[in-house]
Amino acid sequence: MLSNFPRERFAHLPTPLEPLNGLRAALGEGCPNILIKRDDCTGLGFGGNKTRKLEFLVGQAKAEGNDTLLTFGALQSNHVRQTAAAAARAGLSCIAILVEQVPYDGASYNSSGNLMLDHLFGAEVHRVPDNDGAGKALGEVLERLGHEGRSALIIPPGGSTAQGALGYVDCAIELEGQCKAMGISPAALIMASSTGGTQAGLIAGTAARAFHCPIIGFDVYAGDAPKIATDIRSLTEEVLSMLPGAPALHPDWVQVRDGVIGPGYGLPTAEMKEAVNLLATRDGVLIDPVYSGKAMAGLIGMVRAGAFTADDTIIFLHTGGAPGLFAYEGEWS
Ligand SMILES: *Cc1c(COP(=O)(O)O)cnc(C)c1O
Repeated sequence: MLSNFPRERFAHLPTPLEPLNGLRAALGEGCPNILIKRDDCTGLGFGGNKTRKLEFLVGQAKAEGNDTLLTFGALQSNHVRQTAAAAARAGLSCIAILVEQVPYDGASYNSSGNLMLDHLFGAEVHRVPDNDGAGKALGEVLERLGHEGRSALIIPPGGSTAQGALGYVDCAIELEGQCKAMGISPAALIMASSTGGTQAGLIAGTAARAFHCPIIGFDVYAGDAPKIATDIRSLTEEVLSMLPGAPALHPDWVQVRDGVIGPGYGLPTAEMKEAVNLLATRDGVLIDPVYSGKAMAGLIGMVRAGAFTADDTIIFLHTGGAPGLFAYEGEWS
């Protein structure tokens, strides 16, 4: 289904699908079987979901003859860290425009975690105060690249173009094979959504394969689940139109929930900390403060509210992000 799209292979695939027995025991009787899909283990520069997208984005960049990946994100963006690693690996330059948008004042937030790794991977980093500043920095960078005879693939935040989302069409196909081999049919897949490319790719991929697996995203970014759902719907339609023989989008396939973001993107909540602590102490698995921790808090909330039976199998997509823990060290130290 994906062989016609340019792709550079650097992800460690397939990622494991394994039970979270410690969490299940902690949540007590009635808890469904919870499997975790370890996309934190995609292998590139501490891994995460952006690595799958970047296989197709780097493929595109090279096919179009670019020498640079130019992208955007928050100061602690996992996407920017993985883009910087992918560029290093592919022999491309990386330019990152980082918006200081998260009002979190932990000392290490401004220097450690993903930001430190962007520097280590050799990215050219521009820090700007807001979106206006990002637009201005983009104009300056493009003018300079023009003078230098260079050309960049401009990758939007989160790598959420249709091309990038193909990485999660691939993940849906991989997951279908794993579920078949294990003899399970999942009642739902739970995940964190922000720019939406991950969820859009999964919805398109499961639909194209007629693999029944409802995908439920938790908004960790906008504090506006309907807005995220609208973005995901249009991106999913675009992805489906690229896949030969795929069906048209049914609007019900796009499920985005609110209730876990708390005071805002990148700001800790008590429920997130409980989720991070439970996975660390019961399963030895690290999830992150910004995305997977809040989505896991959403899943724990659903289990406690009786949304599933003990016979159900639920898949939690671990999208990565644990390097961000170091930017929030004050929450745990
Ligand atoms: C980017 C990211 C997400 C969200 O993926 P989108 O495709 O932007 O919705 C989830 N978890 C982690 C750890 C991320 O870095």
